[in-house]
Amino acid sequence: MKTSLHAEPAGTRSSQALTIIAQNIDLAASGEGAICQDTGMPTFEIRTPVGANQIWMRQQVREAVAEATRRGKLRPNSVDSITGANSGDNLGPGTPIVHFEQWERDAIEIKLILKGGGCENTNAQYSVPVELPNLGRADRTLDGVRKCILHAVWQAQGKGCSPGAVGVCVGGDRTSGYLHAKEQLFRSLDDVNPDPRLGEIEASIMSTVNTLEIGAMGFGGKVTLIGCKIGALNRLPASFFVSVAYDCWAFRRLGVVLDSSTGAITSWLYRDPAHPIIPMLDQAGFTRTGREVALRAPLGAEDVRALKVGDVVLVSGPMFTGRDAVHSHLMKHEPPVDLRGSVLYHCGPVVVKEGDRWRITAAGPTTSIREEPYQADIIKRYGVRAVIGKGGMGAKTLAALKEHGAVYLNAIGGAAQFYAQAITRVDGVSLLEFGTPEAMWHLTVEGFPAIVTMDAHGNSLHKDIEQASGERLASLGA
Ligand code: SF4
Repeated sequence: MKTSLHAEPAGTRSSQALTIIAQNIDLAASGEGAICQDTGMPTFEIRTPVGANQIWMRQQVREAVAEATRRGKLRPNSVDSITGANSGDNLGPGTPIVHFEQWERDAIEIKLILKGGGCENTNAQYSVPVELPNLGRADRTLDGVRKCILHAVWQAQGKGCSPGAVGVCVGGDRTSGYLHAKEQLFRSLDDVNPDPRLGEIEASIMSTVNTLEIGAMGFGGKVTLIGCKIGALNRLPASFFVSVAYDCWAFRRLGVVLDSSTGAITSWLYRDPAHPIIPMLDQAGFTRTGREVALRAPLGAEDVRALKVGDVVLVSGPMFTGRDAVHSHLMKHEPPVDLRGSVLYHCGPVVVKEGDRWRITAAGPTTSIREEPYQADIIKRYGVRAVIGKGGMGAKTLAALKEHGAVYLNAIGGAAQFYAQAITRVDGVSLLEFGTPEAMWHLTVEGFPAIVTMDAHGNSLHKDIEQASGERLASLGA
């Protein structure tokens, strides 16, 4: 990420986004807080000697996950898929994910990856041969694999919090393909693929993909991908899947090797405890240029009509969170607060209760496109003037922004610590029955920075970048 930061010219939108990300990383490291409020699906890969008690170890993992959730290190992220109820402790059918494998060594290796919903939703699986927009036909060849990967990265745009990394599996079946693709994300970014044929595609992707100029958060820029790791599994003669697991810049992995007789940690993976933490930023973080537009909620139509795509705004005043459950609820019920002139923040924060007070410990934006089926109606019905999220929204919302006088503001995905600092007070909460990430939090913020990416005049940076990068993608298809 430091390399990415240095690659972007200062003052560009991508550079501003990466500076906020860097500042966020430093805040998370110094405060030992969640680097992003979506602490993801805890996925453990455990290798044990023959004879190790896996039933007991699974129970230990579950207890550790529940404790990390109690301590506010993990957001409660395990939701009953039928009722929508949040288990509150990250335990439930299928959560956490724990895979065991036996090996010949007399040690226990435990690796954990925390991959959030925004990037998980940008995963892609291709059944080749397939006709791909801008790239033409992807055949059952390594060049076809290359095209599928390029397409997946282009399609993700900024929604998976770019710059990201992709793990890829060539072959397998639909299930094993996705699993093996995710396993590739455990590899180090600088390793060399043991299969030179796959290594060649990895190198080819990394040398060309950044010419798409999707950039950090999809704002346009020089760094779109920080890694591409490819594995292969045998397949049925009739099937040829290319599975792509996209991980965001937060790319959270950690691991330990344990002495199998004492349980003591003999070494760490992905970190060296002897190595001091080097701050990401060697300069001031997000600094104001004086060109930012100060917005104080509640907002009027004239406030938002004066804004145009590319403006950096600093929002102050009341702000309400709302994500999937709130949006669905508002389609059938009146809002619990007056939303006229309001700022609606697509965010599922990490919240801890201290006595009878709530404290927000992480509060970055969630992927907005999930609210596309609802947003236009909510803007129209309740008079919302600004929607903050990440990754942009679609044509229906863009039309509603223009018709009703509202804007979409893109905050920096994953910058959960950075934005938590802009929250000066938690004023209350509604709809807590949806669970803490899905409730509507009433916040007061001060100087909350975001970029106008969809304005009230029909302009969308997301649409423009998708189109321009699509044209560049076509040149990589040949
Ligand atoms: S950085 Fe973005 S994609 Fe990654 S977990 Fe956070 S919100 Fe999700």
